[in-house]
Amino acid sequence: MFGGRATLCGDQGMAPKLASLARPHPILLITEHHAGRTDVPSWESRTLGHRDPGSMDDATTHDLRAAGWTRRGIARAVDAGDLIRVRRGHYATARTPEAVMRAIRVGGRLGCVSELRYRGVWVLDDGALHVQVAGHTSDLRHPDAGTAPMPADSEVRLHWHDEAEPGPAGHASVVDALADASRCLERRAWVASVDSALRRGELSRATVHALRQRVNAAARRDLEGVDARAESGLESIVRVLATDLGLRVRPQVTFRGVGRVDLVVEDWIVVEADGAAFHDVSMSATDRRRDAMLTAMNRTVLRPGYSLIVSDVAAVGRQLIAAVGNHRRVPRSGELAARARIRARRLGIP
Ligand SMILES: [Zn+2]
Repeated sequence: MFGGRATLCGDQGMAPKLASLARPHPILLITEHHAGRTDVPSWESRTLGHRDPGSMDDATTHDLRAAGWTRRGIARAVDAGDLIRVRRGHYATARTPEAVMRAIRVGGRLGCVSELRYRGVWVLDDGALHVQVAGHTSDLRHPDAGTAPMPADSEVRLHWHDEAEPGPAGHASVVDALADASRCLERRAWVASVDSALRRGELSRATVHALRQRVNAAARRDLEGVDARAESGLESIVRVLATDLGLRVRPQVTFRGVGRVDLVVEDWIVVEADGAAFHDVSMSATDRRRDAMLTAMNRTVLRPGYSLIVSDVAAVGRQLIAAVGNHRRVPRSGELAARARIRARRLGIP
């Protein structure tokens, strides 16, 4: 596997070595026999923190041996169900998520949108398994049957890396995952994932710099507009669309008596992206009351919803342009709308 070597609490009763704490991405594997040890949980939380996903999701034979496990000890742990042999030379525990095990079976680690989804980042997932694989990997296997070769028509997307950032065992780093996703996702959906990663603290402003080095020029331009204030991926997509159309857009604006709305375009058009993470939602009585108050303030309220935003962004674009063009309080509204229509045609969203 790639990246940092693992440190494990082995079956030989070894105490964790303090020197190993300095390693970048240690794994701590706790077997049932050691789960009750009082020194282990504090070591785990200090080393890995609670947010480190998959800290125990993939240990190689080398890792286990380096931590003092014997071949017999490994075999015993497999027999007892403490270790799961996922692929030759790779072990997981019962806590390892199925998606990670499938990626390990293929011969890599969970990557791209699959890893982002695992981390709780908003992502428009295509349902495929996205796997990061090292450039030298030749023995690709079936994700559900490690003994069979990878079929040609597999629903697996491979992302080859000669040099991958160190990540938790079994998982791509968030920078690698987002960089790969820039090639798998439509660009507005990708910005939505970056917004979400920032908002959730998976990506810091400092690591955005690392991400910039890993993506193409178009994605680098898109990174200029990322915004951690976005409360949903749908909101992010509409914000990027409005910006693409040359319209002024502000996220998370508060109106007295109404509260915060998702977006305000050209000061007079309110957009509520509306939708749960991955489906449309019906309007609540509260939504209707908010809309009535906003309309009384001369705002036009748009609620495009999940299906339209995801499946027909051109319709959302036309809706925005018409709303701006028709609002009598928007200065130079006709001019703005005409310019937006030209931009829409250039972007291929007529
Ligand atoms: Zn991908």
